[in-house]
Amino acid sequence: MTTLDGIAVHGHFIDGHERPSADERTFDVRNPANGALVARVAEGGAAEIGSAIEAASNAFADGRWSRLAVRERQRILNGFADAIETALPELATLESTCVGRPLREMRAQLSRIPEFYRYFAAVARTAEDAVTPFEGPYVNYVRRVPLGVVGQLTPWNHPLLILTKKLAPALAAGNCVVAKPSEYTPLTTLELARIARDAGIPDGVFNVVTGFGAEAGAALCTDKRVRKLDLTGGTETGRVVAKLAGENLIRVTCELGGKAPVIVLPDADLDRAAAGATFAAFIASGQTCVAGTRVLVHERQADELVERMVRRARAIRIGDPLDLATQLGPLVSAPQLARTERYVEIGRAEGATVACGGRRPEGPPAAGFFYEPTIFTGVQPAMRIAQEEIFGPVTCVMTYRDVDDAVRIANDIRFGLAASIWTADAARGMKLAERLDCGIIWVNDHHRIDPSLPWGGMKDSGMGRETGLEGFREYTQTKSVIVNLDDPVDWYATDGIVRLS
Ligand code: NAD
Repeated sequence: MTTLDGIAVHGHFIDGHERPSADERTFDVRNPANGALVARVAEGGAAEIGSAIEAASNAFADGRWSRLAVRERQRILNGFADAIETALPELATLESTCVGRPLREMRAQLSRIPEFYRYFAAVARTAEDAVTPFEGPYVNYVRRVPLGVVGQLTPWNHPLLILTKKLAPALAAGNCVVAKPSEYTPLTTLELARIARDAGIPDGVFNVVTGFGAEAGAALCTDKRVRKLDLTGGTETGRVVAKLAGENLIRVTCELGGKAPVIVLPDADLDRAAAGATFAAFIASGQTCVAGTRVLVHERQADELVERMVRRARAIRIGDPLDLATQLGPLVSAPQLARTERYVEIGRAEGATVACGGRRPEGPPAAGFFYEPTIFTGVQPAMRIAQEEIFGPVTCVMTYRDVDDAVRIANDIRFGLAASIWTADAARGMKLAERLDCGIIWVNDHHRIDPSLPWGGMKDSGMGRETGLEGFREYTQTKSVIVNLDDPVDWYATDGIVRLS
């Protein structure tokens, strides 16, 4: 990092070193709470992606990581986790400054990150390969080996957590990584790369190229040396990335958009359900793929639930994200604020009622992208506000007649990422979970994660799974070794005709 006029200037992180772009282009990273310039960052393109892939390819080929004893990889990854833990206060502050999420949320989220590296290091160390029931005098053993160089494209809403969900299994399995973080929030990813190097992850194993999706991202997706692409982003970006992966016949994992239903069953405690529904909708100012933005409540309980939700939403403290008392920060960018405002107007025009919010708050700086927690009532399932991902602090309350009706509304959408069910009876919740077309379903909770949880969506919400054993396997490929324990057959010297009857 250098400084220019008192502003930090960051390069890419390639082969263990910070490097500017060949043409020295940079772009600005700004604080969404007040518009202040936080740093300038190198703007990469095909040249920088090419250098990063070359460094990763060399690192993979010489086995400095991929052929390291697994216990040694585990030791280094555990050290990396410890170093992240030490750096958490600075990482949380930096991430909060760039994303705009309240520091109290950022601390809670980032405090989970070290355990992902420890978990996947343990998964790699305890992985047992299979011996298949191959017939005859043979032994067929199946080895899981790394893929090679993998490309990871990450969004701005949870920069470090989402990167970690991809990076931890990729590294544990022995791959080398080129990551392209979001252009809005690249700073913590660069910091993580420095921490990784200092923790002993060899040069070239984890590289970061900063820049924009259309240029740096596209270059990463088209390079034939990359063996897997792992994207978290919008559904339309997913289609582009999956198509490019298809052209190169490589693996792809896409974690995409969502519009999660929050189903309040008639037996649920309405206070708890209202607390859950507001938490589901407004955490991260609604900028999360699993945001609970379709609240389904029985028609006889809607007024009571809405009244409780509105009371809670109005009490949410909006303000400076770095103030630990703040519960709701700004949206990440001007386009994200404009999108939220546009959808609220669409909702009004569609005939829905704004029960609270529906405007920018008066207190915080005008240059910040703040928007009040907004609850729509009188929403019909076919309305655009109930079908499209807004990615702002806006939730829609809809009513159902009976559980079949709730299931129909919940599933009648192109997304299938997450859902939550609120009930006094866990068995009833589990039965309902069977009927939902979603990859992640919470009963009496929302947003809760764990490294062991396979994470991903159905339908337009994505393909493949992150984290858990499934996520680890997606960063490996199998190699079947078949050993003949008998004398080899001399096919041409014998009558090898198989009699079929
Ligand atoms: P985005 O799709 O704009 O960008 C994601 C990443 O892809 C960024 O690094 C971007 O630069 C890159 N990119 C964009 N266009 C590209 C292209 N043509 N080729 C290659 N790379 C490209 O998404 P975003 O706005 O940063 O994030 C918000 C979206 O992410 C929302 O739709 C949200 O639902 C989704 N998301 C999904 C999950 C999940 O787990 N399913 C989690 C968080 C966010």
